Amino acid sequence: MKLTFLGTGTSTGVPSIGCDCETCTSEDPRDKRLRVSVVIEHAEQTVLVDTSSDFRQQALRYGLKRLDGVLITHCHADHIFGLDDIRPLNFRFGALGVFANERAWSDIRRIFKYIFEPSHFGGGLPQVIAHTVVPNARFCLGKGLEITPLEVIHGRLSVMAYRFNDFAYATDLSEIPPQTMAALQSLDVLVLDCLRFREHPTHLWVDKALAYIEELKPRMTFLTHIAHDVKHERDSARLPEGVEWAYDGLEVEG
Ligand SMILES: [Zn+2]
Ligand SMILES: [Zn+2]
Ligand SMILES: [Zn+2]
Repeated sequence: MKLTFLGTGTSTGVPSIGCDCETCTSEDPRDKRLRVSVVIEHAEQTVLVDTSSDFRQQALRYGLKRLDGVLITHCHADHIFGLDDIRPLNFRFGALGVFANERAWSDIRRIFKYIFEPSHFGGGLPQVIAHTVVPNARFCLGKGLEITPLEVIHGRLSVMAYRFNDFAYATDLSEIPPQTMAALQSLDVLVLDCLRFREHPTHLWVDKALAYIEELKPRMTFLTHIAHDVKHERDSARLPEGVEWAYDGLEVEG
């Protein structure tokens, strides 16, 4: 299995517009973070998690050729606003399966009303095959990629994390419910939300993320959805062994 980080930044992206802090002015490419998204490749399947607001730029940079499915974590703007840019893939391969929970679908249908209730002809609309996921209801893409949607809590919102065989991707969360903790045992690779060092009402911060990691004991953890408070090189020394800040373009194989 291969996981590639297309974006690792918080909702504003890093650098943040108009900011001249140490991270936003850094020349280290690992301090330049597009909005969060990953690609998972396994058993001839290529799956994208979230069509971020930077999706077009990410797909071009990554050299994305095709997708077998799109998984949505939740319907906040930074995770969904690139949905219209799946059209070039539709032109070549037809409609694309998109997986999201019921709450996210009701928001997607409202925000992208034109996709579901077209008001004009021409221009090319995204072609979406809507699949509703339910926590812990496992499904397969192709023959060998097993996907388990898991519920995490983002402030008050129910968000989907996804487990792919022994990898898991859990962004935008402040709490992991007990049944999801149970489903995240024996992981090879965990990707976990971690905004910054200071507390936050709807995201994990370093101490709280490390407490979950201590309990789950994955072989490796990569932190994502990172704000400009974190400077990659300076702050890497502040993480324990087995835990790293993710960065755009990082590939993890297992
Ligand atoms: Zn987000
Ligand atoms: Zn800054
Ligand atoms: Zn969010």
